[in-house]
Amino acid sequence: TREDRHPQGKRRLGISFEFFPPKSEEMEGQLWTTIEELAGWNPDFVSVTYGAGGSTKAPTLTTVRRLIAETSLPTAAHITCVGATREEVRHVAEEFIAAGVRRFVALRGDPQGGVGAAYAPHPGGFANAAELVAGLKEIGDFDISVSAYPEKHPESPDVPADIDMLKRKADNGAARALTQFFFDNDVFERYLERVRAAGVTIPVVPGIMLIQNLTQLKRFASLCGASIPAFLDERFAGLDDQPQARAEVAAEVAAEQIEDLVRRGITDFHLYTMNRAPLVSAVLKQLGLGRDGEARSGAAA
Ligand code: FAD
Repeated sequence: TREDRHPQGKRRLGISFEFFPPKSEEMEGQLWTTIEELAGWNPDFVSVTYGAGGSTKAPTLTTVRRLIAETSLPTAAHITCVGATREEVRHVAEEFIAAGVRRFVALRGDPQGGVGAAYAPHPGGFANAAELVAGLKEIGDFDISVSAYPEKHPESPDVPADIDMLKRKADNGAARALTQFFFDNDVFERYLERVRAAGVTIPVVPGIMLIQNLTQLKRFASLCGASIPAFLDERFAGLDDQPQARAEVAAEVAAEQIEDLVRRGITDFHLYTMNRAPLVSAVLKQLGLGRDGEARSGAAA
């Protein structure tokens, strides 16, 4: 975690940005515009997600390669073990490593039938993310992030089972956990207390979702086991046809959530950017974070 002070007297919090690999040329243009804009916030690292069932290995690799070649942003590759043997996962990891990757976000991945389908480990594969962390650590001493679920993973019988998996991931060498998004900070704080009581000492970094569209988010959230508190309906009420006002509310909501977590002692945040910069920048501006343009004007031209 960096110091709370910036040379210009501005506050610094630890931040990371999550991107997904683009699915079209247009989306690719959008992603690189976003990266250029967000690089100026000098994130601790950025990460690129990995598609279900390995379907986006190539786009993830392409995006990661370009980040490493053309920017100075520390870049983490997400990697999953769903639907693959240990050898296949190791091969994918080695391709990332050959591209210069030294950071991973290690995940089990969603079942190949899609979120909500039953998960069956591949025979000869890693059974869960804890085994994957151990497998990566056998290859090299990488910086590995893992997932955490303040409202529990939908497949977990209960929160203790979830925390037990987190502990196994930490014991196997994970450096930090990035959480599924949540909007109720009390839930997060209670979860963190239980995590610490279970002897897990790694940082648990809140994943902050920026609300581009509440209706869409609700559909997605129920699949991830994340709840959408009623106060969000109130905040966004009547704004369906007012994108500008919606964006302002979204930035306020995220900034308020982060401010409140900072008051509770949290210093690092992982932002789900959805590959769009304006809302992220609006939130970070509201928080009074300093841009570090000189030190890292960053993304390639
Ligand atoms: P694990 O940590 O292995 O397990 C999740 C939970 O399931 C555990 O709490 C455990 O209690 C339970 N569980 C696991 N195995 C078993 C078992 N055999 N029996 C009973 N219970 C079990 N998905 C992608 O496809 N690509 C990505 O890039 C991606 N990035 C993500 C980034 C973050 C920060 C987060 C929070 C999630 C991400 N996901 C991604 C989603 C993730 O792959 C899914 O949530 C998946 O269903 C679980 O993966 P995991 O690594 O959290 O699993």
